[in-house]
Amino acid sequence: MSLRKRISLGHTLAFRLTLWYAGIFAVSACVAFLLFYTLITSFILERTDQELLDQASRFSLLLATQGVDSVKDSMIIESEAAGVKKVFFRLLYADGRAYSSTNMSYWQDIGVDETAIKALFRERDPVFQKIDITGRAEKVRILYSALNPGIVLQVGLAMESYSRFLEAFRKYFIATMTILILLAAGVGWFMARRAVSGVEAITRTAQKISDGTLKERVPVKGRGDEIDQLALTFNQMLDRIQALLKEIKEMSDNIAHDLRSPIARIRGVAEVTLTSGKAVSEYENMAASTIEECDRLLDMINTMLMISKTELGVNSFSGKDVDFTSVVRQANDLFEPAAEDKSVAFHCDVQDGLHLTGDTPMIQRMLSNLLDNAIKYTPSGGSVSVAAYESQGQVVVAVQDTGIGISKQDLPRIFERFFRCDQSRSQTGTGLGLSLARAIARAHGGDITVVSMPNQGSTFTVTLPKPYSTQNDAPGYEF
Ligand code: ADP
Repeated sequence: MSLRKRISLGHTLAFRLTLWYAGIFAVSACVAFLLFYTLITSFILERTDQELLDQASRFSLLLATQGVDSVKDSMIIESEAAGVKKVFFRLLYADGRAYSSTNMSYWQDIGVDETAIKALFRERDPVFQKIDITGRAEKVRILYSALNPGIVLQVGLAMESYSRFLEAFRKYFIATMTILILLAAGVGWFMARRAVSGVEAITRTAQKISDGTLKERVPVKGRGDEIDQLALTFNQMLDRIQALLKEIKEMSDNIAHDLRSPIARIRGVAEVTLTSGKAVSEYENMAASTIEECDRLLDMINTMLMISKTELGVNSFSGKDVDFTSVVRQANDLFEPAAEDKSVAFHCDVQDGLHLTGDTPMIQRMLSNLLDNAIKYTPSGGSVSVAAYESQGQVVVAVQDTGIGISKQDLPRIFERFFRCDQSRSQTGTGLGLSLARAIARAHGGDITVVSMPNQGSTFTVTLPKPYSTQNDAPGYEF
C-alpha cells in the first residue's frame, strides 16, 4: 500500500502546506485589491467633488456679476448640455425652500436636506452627500454651496464612472481571485509535493528496514537542500547501525567460539577421567584442570564486563590523584622478572613527579596489558623499553618492543574485542587486553596509538591528560 494511500489526503503535510499557501496567497491578493479599490474610489470621488465645486464657484461669480436670472439660464443650459439625467441644479433660499431648478423629472426622489443647509451656514464650508436612489444603478453626489448669504446652490451629479468602476471591479475581482486561488493551490501543491517527496522516500526506506532489509538506503537527489541533508544523515545512521550489528555478530561468534573451546576441554577431561580413571590422583588432576579452565573463562567474562562498563562509564569514577611515576615503576618491577625469564632485555626510563587524575587500579591494569603483550610477543634476545614522560601538557607512556610486530592489515583491528593476529595464536590470550586498555585510556580522556612493523617490533603510546585544576573540570567518564 502506498504511503499516500495510508494517510488520508486531508492529513498529508503536502495538503496542509497547499492550504496554507493558497490561503496566504488569497489573503494577500485581497489586501492588494482592497488597497487598489480604496485608492481608485477616493481618486474618482475627489475629481467629482472638484467638478462640483468648480461649478458652484462659476455660478457664484455669475450671481455677483450678472444677477440671479443669468444663473438660472446658465443652469438650464449646463444641465441640458450634460444631459438632464446626469446633472441637476436647484437654487434654494437659506431656509431650504426651492427658488428655481432645472428639469427635475428624473430627480424627483431627491429632496432638500435642511440639516445639510444648516451645516453649510454653521461651518461656512460646502457640504457633500452621497445618495443611493432605489432602482438606479449609479450613486448621486450632491453638493450644497452658498452662492451668497441668501441663496444656496444644490447640485446633483450622477456618479456614472464611479458606479461603472465598482461594477467592473467586482466582476474582475471575482474572476481574477478565482483564477489566482486555483493557480496558487496548483503551485502550492506542486511545491509541497516536491518538498515532501524526500521525506516520503525516507519513510519508505525506514519501512523497508523495519521489514528486515538493512541494506536499503535513501536516494540522495544531490540538490544540497535540507532533504538531502536528512537523507545523508539517515544513510550515515544506517551505515553505523549496520556496522554495529556486524560488530555485535562477530563478537557473539567470537564469544561462542572462545567459550566453546574451554568447555569442550573440561568435558573431554571429565569424560576421559570417568571412563578410564580409577585412581584418586586422576580425579584430583581433573578437578585442577577444571578449576584452571574455569578461571580462564571467568577472567575472560570479567574482562568483557569491565570493557563494557568502562566504555559505558557506569562504574563510579574515583577521580583521585594518581602517582603515575610510581604506578609505572611498580609495573616495571612486576614484569622485569618475566622478561628476564624469557631472555628479553628490559629498560625503563620514567620521569619523576608525573601525576594524573583517575583510577589507579585501572591504570595499573592498562599498563599490565601493554607490558604483558610486549614481553609475550617478543622472542628471546629481543628487548622491551618503557618510557614515561610529560609532553605538551600530557602524560605519555610508551611501551616499545622488538618483537614479532603487527601486519599493516591487522593493525586497524587489534583494538577490537577478541581480535588476535594469526601469528600470535601460538601464545595464550583472549584478544581482550588491548580493548580494555584502550577503553581505560579513553575513560581517562586519553587514547592509545600504535606503530608497528612485522618482525621489527611495535610501540604502543598512551597519552593521558594531566590533572585537572578543579574536580569540576574532570571528564564525564565514569568507571
Ligand atoms: P591477547 O590476549 O591476544 O594478547 P590483546 O587484545 O592484548 O589480546 O592483543 C590483540 C592482538 O594484538 C594480539 O593477539 C596480538 O596479535 C596483537 N598484539 C598486541 N600487542 C602486540 C605486540 N606488542 N606485538 C605484536 N603483536 C601484538
